[in-house]
Amino acid sequence: MATWMPTDEGKVQADFLGNATRPGHPGGPAGVPPAARVPGRCCKTSGMRITVLAGGVGAARFLRGLRAAVPGADITVIGNTGDDFTPFGLHVSPDLDTVMYTLGGGVSEEQGWGRAGESRVVLSELAAYGAGPDWFGLGDKDLATHILRTQVLAGGGTLSEATRALCERWQPGVTLLPMSDDAVRTHVTVELEGREQVLHFQEWWVRYRAAIPARLIESAGAGEARPAPGVLEAISAADFVLFPPSNPVVSIGAILAVPGIAAALAGKIVVGVSPIIGGAPVHGMADACLTAIGVQTSAAAVAAHYGRELLDGWLVDERDKDAVDAPELAGITVRARPLYMTDVTATAEIARAAIDLAEQVRA
Ligand code: GDP
Ligand code: CA
Repeated sequence: MATWMPTDEGKVQADFLGNATRPGHPGGPAGVPPAARVPGRCCKTSGMRITVLAGGVGAARFLRGLRAAVPGADITVIGNTGDDFTPFGLHVSPDLDTVMYTLGGGVSEEQGWGRAGESRVVLSELAAYGAGPDWFGLGDKDLATHILRTQVLAGGGTLSEATRALCERWQPGVTLLPMSDDAVRTHVTVELEGREQVLHFQEWWVRYRAAIPARLIESAGAGEARPAPGVLEAISAADFVLFPPSNPVVSIGAILAVPGIAAALAGKIVVGVSPIIGGAPVHGMADACLTAIGVQTSAAAVAAHYGRELLDGWLVDERDKDAVDAPELAGITVRARPLYMTDVTATAEIARAAIDLAEQVRA
């Protein structure tokens, strides 16, 4: 059991930094309704090693379906930390937390992020002091996560260690790794108040709803960052790697910006699920990010952006079935399937289709 008291040296105690134990079968991990599990596939998927590059909401929902589709598989999630920021001095890792809360059964289903049954007492007290930012929704329960993460980091621990410790409570049923323990921050250059300004991604995305055109999106610090412990090993050991329907620029793109990760993927089977359906993101403003890097908002253009060196297979929605024989995607095997993650059962089918495609391109 985790004890969150710092030791005399200010270091976190070693006993809560151990590996989260995997939830056993047949009970399955928290947050998965038994009816959603795909029956009769246990033996085939048992022992399968899958590594997933993940952003926030789209990734978390996909992972819930994947976990249901492949009971017994060993899933490692490499989470985007380019969105991390430090309001009130607290280290917030929005994408890691969205994955952790969703797989741990604690997410707000309505929002897709943050905790269920939240209150905002602390934030309103801070506002009464005139302290901001007031545009980022930090609930009281969620704040406990950020306080503990910050405590680990302040004691000399790494983000990997903090993540592992937090996952001891949530038991996500996957190994959740930050992409890097080093600071990589997505910065967005915009024209604001008559001059060029560089905003942290969160300010552009949450405060301005990505409504100000981005002139440049970059991963500050990526050049010097190293993959977190276990990241390259998880890619190397994987039977195949999946890109869930995550933002191609600020989620998957940020992970790929960490030196060594794209190179490690080059030798693997990689299959992605399009986050773009019918020329638009299903939720959110990923189109604003794609426009900023000169990529059209379409399922085919996103695959072409990743390129055949990286991507072996690509799932598009049935609405985008023209991409199946698009000449610009030669070398990438494209399949059209229903891609709306309406519930865990539908999402498990999408995950199954991604695995089938991976097995097919490997054969
Ligand atoms: P974020 O960090 O919360 O923005 O999450 P991600 O990086 O994982 O990106 C979310 C992406 O998931 C968006 O681009 C959405 O278009 C996409 N998405 C959300 N719901 C669905 C869905 O039901 N199906 C598909 N194919 N994509 C989805
Ligand atoms: Ca995110």
